[in-house]
Amino acid sequence: MNEILVYTQLNKNEICDFSYDLISYAKEISKNETVISSAIIANSDFILDENKKKNLYKFGADKVYLIKENFSYYDKYYFPDLIFETVKKINPSIVLFNSTTEGREIAPKTASKLNTGLTADCTGLEIIKKEDGFKLISTRPTFGGKLMASILSKTTPDMSTVRVNTFKKKEFNFEGEIEVIELNFEVNQNSSIKILEFIEDKKEFSTLENAKIIVSGGMGLKNKEGFEKLETFAKLINASIGATRKAVDKGLIDRKFQIGQTGKCATPEIYIAFGIKGAIHHIVGMENSKKIIAVNTDKNAPIFNYADFGIIKDANLVLDELISFLQKEKV
Ligand SMILES: Cc1cc2nc3c(=O)[nH]c(=O)nc-3n(C[C@H](O)[C@H](O)[C@H](O)COP(=O)(O)OP(=O)(O)OC[C@H]3O[C@@H](n4cnc5c(N)ncnc54)[C@H](O)[C@@H]3O)c2cc1C
Repeated sequence: MNEILVYTQLNKNEICDFSYDLISYAKEISKNETVISSAIIANSDFILDENKKKNLYKFGADKVYLIKENFSYYDKYYFPDLIFETVKKINPSIVLFNSTTEGREIAPKTASKLNTGLTADCTGLEIIKKEDGFKLISTRPTFGGKLMASILSKTTPDMSTVRVNTFKKKEFNFEGEIEVIELNFEVNQNSSIKILEFIEDKKEFSTLENAKIIVSGGMGLKNKEGFEKLETFAKLINASIGATRKAVDKGLIDRKFQIGQTGKCATPEIYIAFGIKGAIHHIVGMENSKKIIAVNTDKNAPIFNYADFGIIKDANLVLDELISFLQKEKV
């Protein structure tokens, strides 16, 4: 019971940086009183090399459970079965996932199989010591971000998904090495879906969670042409794209780019908001950016309360000027 299990996500057989962040966060809240273990589901192409082991250990994991199975692609029905078997076998007090698409798919399915609760999209965690193990206090925004709710589950194990970028990885373990435990479950891959082909989304720029610069658009960009300009500008400065939910709901841009309470959370070095009002639901997803620049025609727009620099001007015109300047520079 004295264990915190962290689901460790892979991308092209590399450990995602946000998984190291979550392992470090688990280590931080555990105050060295519990074992931190990482659970990796991988196929035979994955190699847990010395570098990965060193990093897992350095960023706080004491153990890694390597669940090696025979599959070609991530499967949202099969992976929860494997995590369920892992949890049954090792009986941890707490199980954590990043609040990524994958984490959001695996965590609720696993929780339901375990007949336990799940607190989703947390922005803060704390653990308390009980006679029979550890309990998790999970904090998450509620009532549209107006209240922070601290949730203590009545069931065990405690399970939570944690917003990416809530905590940045930190070095904890310096001498020694990680314990590797290989697990093998005879679970059939009874998925109701069959992946025929995997086509990489080349338009994704870089992922929002790791982006250094994000250029983000709201309803002030008016239409799809405005978002095409945003895309051109993003390419010129090697940035990622973000958007408000309103722009997503209007079909101006794909939902995967949505930033905010019901979207993704980002902490880039620079966040440029074009035609974004600055509703609290949006702000919670980007307020920890290092520098915020806002372009809005309304000098009283709430976004200016968070911005380091403000431009009171038509967002489409500013984009035209920036694109034309950068294209001339390139020639
Ligand atoms: C439960 C809940 C969850 C939500 N989750 C999210 C979320 O995750 N992310 C999110 O973004 N929103 C979310 N929302 C919606 C949020 O409350 C706002 O409605 C939304 O963020 C507003 O988007 P916007 O700024 O693009 O549009 P608007 O509110 O319409 O603002 C447009 C802005 O553009 C400016 N503008 C107009 N014309 C120009 C121009 N030519 N040039 C420059 N500026 C111009 C205007 O002055 C205005 O400030 C959520 C809402 C609820 C209730």
